[in-house]
Amino acid sequence: MRLSQSFVPTLKETPADAQIASHRLMLRAGLVRQTASGIYAWLPVGFRVLKKIEQIVREEQDAIGAQEMLMPTVQSAELWRQSGRYEEYGKEMLRIRDRHERELLYGPTNEEMITDLLRQGVKSYRDLPQILYHIQWKFRDEVRPRFGVMRGREFLMKDAYSFDLDRAGAVVSYRKMMLAYMRTFERMGLKAIPMVAESGPIGGDLSHEFIILARTGESQVFYDAAFEEIDYSPRAFDHRSNDDLARFFREMTTHYAATEEKHDPAAWDRVSAGRRREGRGIEVGHIFYFRTKYSKPLGFTVSGPDGRAVHPEMGSYGIGVSRLVGAVIEAGHDERGIIWPEPVAPYRLAVLNLKPGDGRCDSLCEDFYQKLTGEVLYDDRDERPGVKFADADLLGLPWQIVVGPRGAASGSVELKRRATGERLELSAEDAFRRVT
Ligand code: ATP
Ligand code: MG
Repeated sequence: MRLSQSFVPTLKETPADAQIASHRLMLRAGLVRQTASGIYAWLPVGFRVLKKIEQIVREEQDAIGAQEMLMPTVQSAELWRQSGRYEEYGKEMLRIRDRHERELLYGPTNEEMITDLLRQGVKSYRDLPQILYHIQWKFRDEVRPRFGVMRGREFLMKDAYSFDLDRAGAVVSYRKMMLAYMRTFERMGLKAIPMVAESGPIGGDLSHEFIILARTGESQVFYDAAFEEIDYSPRAFDHRSNDDLARFFREMTTHYAATEEKHDPAAWDRVSAGRRREGRGIEVGHIFYFRTKYSKPLGFTVSGPDGRAVHPEMGSYGIGVSRLVGAVIEAGHDERGIIWPEPVAPYRLAVLNLKPGDGRCDSLCEDFYQKLTGEVLYDDRDERPGVKFADADLLGLPWQIVVGPRGAASGSVELKRRATGERLELSAEDAFRRVT
């Protein structure tokens, strides 16, 4: 992308109303703009990050056999009356009336709808298990939208739903999902800690929140240092084997971890002093196993192996895709700007042309731009070098290649790694090799 022809409205001033780093940096780097309270437009660079995060989430869902689909954002109130949640959900639900005075709502979540869809097509125990997911915008009329995309009113969520014949099957689905979550967050460069959680308005009897550590997190957390050492790579856990899954789940749940509300000083005492960690965290995912909470009121049954009708056992599994963009920034930034982990960076590298119009500078830059199309943000603007350096650090791409007239004359460039600030004077070919 050529910066001179792009819409990347960076700001020099720190926006006054943004309280936390990720919110300030997302506005300053021109990733998003608020269009109404808690509602954001994703500008080109921010949108690329959102898509990359979404793609990692998708790949790890697909890897455990979850099937992608897409449900609508607008739902009929009727199913929510059947589950009893239409009244219960309260003011967080955005209620809409159409021209025929029919009651609709903008979905805050999709348990009712997915249950209804499956009850229409799944009739026998042989059709189970099923895990389905979609990545779709949600609306919750939060009392206090704040921290930018971290607590918005409209936000992008991956929500998955599992259907099993019995409890044993449902627990397997739950464990698979837990493993998928740990891998998802790890791929984004985040350390997530699963914590026993309240199941809230979704209800149920087994639930974990996934918290990533960040100083500005909304929740106070207590955890065993063991979480910093667990290996949940595909090598360590083969998700096709139930024994491996059980072992993984044990490892994830025997170590102490809790948010403030669930903190148990007696259990905390048993964690040896040297392993106790306290911090603040951001909830990036939440999973629930809630048995037949929706299949029962919605009258969803399958015929079991003995011919009797059974209500499928369900779970639901959310990841805050748009919240993750903010969370990744909270976990990686400095006073100059964002520091993207490579897998979610909007572009792999920034090429800074310090003298557009200079034949050698232009041709070196064009060369990088052509060879790495799609992964280069090319600063070809007619701006002072200082402005380009500041914007490159603010935008936080993993690599910067600085092309100035003096070096260019002898075919050399400066390569900078954003995370460490380390700089190297290299030939253009060596720089190219290093960034690819
Ligand atoms: P919270 O306690 O933060 O309100 P929740 O328990 O209401 O979260 P879930 O219903 O489990 O959230 O939704 C799944 C995920 O969606 C959450 O883990 C979070 O990452 C994300 N999420 C929830 N509410 C918001 C919001 N208002 N803005 C952005 N992301 C959100
Ligand atoms: Mg909430």
